[in-house]
Amino acid sequence: MSQNLLPLEPVETILEKLVFSKDDLLYLLNTSGKERIKLFEKAKEVKAACVGRKVYFRGLIEYSNYCKKNCYYCGIRAGNSRYARYRMTDAEVLEAVNYAYLNDYASIVIQSGEQTNKAFVAKIESLLKRIHLQTAGKIHVTLSLGEQSEDTYRRWFEAGAHRYLLRIEVSNPALYLKLHPNNLSHDYNRRLDALKTLRNVGYQVGTGVMIGLPFQTISDLADDLIFFREFDIDMAGMGPYIEHADTPLYLYRSELLPLKERFDLALKMVAILRIMMKNINIAATTAMQTIDPQGREKALMVGANVIMPNLTPVKYRQDYLLYENKPCLDEEAEECKSCLEARIHIAGDTIGYGEWGDSRHFSERNT
Ligand code: SAH
Ligand code: SF4
Repeated sequence: MSQNLLPLEPVETILEKLVFSKDDLLYLLNTSGKERIKLFEKAKEVKAACVGRKVYFRGLIEYSNYCKKNCYYCGIRAGNSRYARYRMTDAEVLEAVNYAYLNDYASIVIQSGEQTNKAFVAKIESLLKRIHLQTAGKIHVTLSLGEQSEDTYRRWFEAGAHRYLLRIEVSNPALYLKLHPNNLSHDYNRRLDALKTLRNVGYQVGTGVMIGLPFQTISDLADDLIFFREFDIDMAGMGPYIEHADTPLYLYRSELLPLKERFDLALKMVAILRIMMKNINIAATTAMQTIDPQGREKALMVGANVIMPNLTPVKYRQDYLLYENKPCLDEEAEECKSCLEARIHIAGDTIGYGEWGDSRHFSERNT
């Protein structure tokens, strides 16, 4: 996947540029040794100067693993009959929200397999209203519930959700086609339109990609970074692709980069994005920790500023395996919290308890 590139300029000069060209991005993604360290140091510096050395918690609620889609990479795709399908009860959701509230998390994320039926849409809407009431509006909600109609996005926005995560997964349409079934519900343009609709409705919009997928090149990753800049995203969540035996993409596992290299590329993507888009929120994702036990701390040290402690009841975690070897499957919320506190401390950051930690980029764009 890597290419041998001749330095165009010293890495220090590239890192100071206001706008990276595609060649600059290719160069930075290929850095090693001292140059790689310089990239990481610059990202750390930009983080401290532009968003501060603070990490914001988003309590993650993996609401349901019912999914109508069949993305070739994902363990909970509709075609995988190995998992028992679940949906959390209202009481379980509200209990998780209460934990976040009592522990000053200030923000939660509700994520789920994609469902678009009327009952699901109404359920999320009513949960959002109840969360708002139960916490006197003190908890901000991010949704990650896939592609929905404009009307649904609007209803949820009006019910109190103000941020939405929808990864583009890969910004290259031809590669997107290779990773999804070829039909309307997995159409690249539909996903792109959903992102635009979210922006128009008024959400803080987060997107992201998987890194180290079969068929993906370094040039694709450079284009992904350019896509983020052109779309002017408010938040990013990126992580390494991790294979899952019950998915069609598993057939191509022999073509994958070793896990360590996928991890390293993911770290570089975080670092470069921090330098490119200085005041957005960037998540240190769980998939990073799946490969390296210190994966999330490492991401925090090179620019990430958001972390998602898992608040899903432990009994459901085994059934929400998007990829294999997901960590923390048996960790209750309390253990997860103290483990993360220690990790963040090691990374040298502090936790923004009680703060929403909204994307500064979003606020600045809108004022
Ligand atoms: N259904 C929603 C949200 C749940 S999936 C959606 O698709 O948007 C959340 C994310 O998990 C996806 O966006 C994808 O990037 C990631 N994911 C799925 N399978 C993965 C895998 N095998 N390795 C790494 N990340 C994966
Ligand atoms: Fe469903 Fe999301 Fe997994 Fe695709 S990535 S199969 S939409 S849960």
